[in-house]
Amino acid sequence: MPPHTHTPPPEGVPPLHGEPLPLEFVNTVFPVRGVLTDGFRTPDHLAWWLRSCRGSLVTPLPDDAVDSLSAVDVQSFVMLRDASRRLIDAFVNLHEADSWDVAHLNRAITMDRCWPLLCWNAGERPVAVHVTTAAPLIAVQSEIAHATLLLLTGSSGVEPKACTAPGCVFFFDHARSRREWCSTGCGNRARAARHYARRHHHRDY
Ligand SMILES: [Zn+2]
Repeated sequence: MPPHTHTPPPEGVPPLHGEPLPLEFVNTVFPVRGVLTDGFRTPDHLAWWLRSCRGSLVTPLPDDAVDSLSAVDVQSFVMLRDASRRLIDAFVNLHEADSWDVAHLNRAITMDRCWPLLCWNAGERPVAVHVTTAAPLIAVQSEIAHATLLLLTGSSGVEPKACTAPGCVFFFDHARSRREWCSTGCGNRARAARHYARRHHHRDY
């Protein structure tokens, strides 16, 4: 068993939502006591997130690639995350996208070429083995960027929506449930805020 299995996560890791990969990726900016916090502050934070989300990736991501993450890798993931976040925000709020963000996403997609190969094992179900031309950490960014393109163009079946709870900055997949909030906690807070506003409204008259 690898040594990191029992290592506790570094303090201040981003919350996981179980959302489709592109939304999980942009939800790594989160509020702590009202202040927006970056969940990819150090290589340890990004390594924790990549290990947590490895099951959602097609790209094989070996432990040694995650263990060798550098500050430059973090910067690269953060730039892609911020560009993707602004694009999804522009999409859900019907704003124009910044052309730099579109170009950055397209550049990230082209950093890798990936294709499946049929692998036939005697007596077992054939499986697809994914081959990439880039190093794993580059290939992962390319995969996430491609998944973001599919989300924005409507090809993935995901309907991104911004949570409407007060102070929440998360996006969630509206296609999976028709709720207005990213979580039960946000739903409760939004209902409490509405109740509070109604009571104060009545008191004013
Ligand atoms: Zn929320």
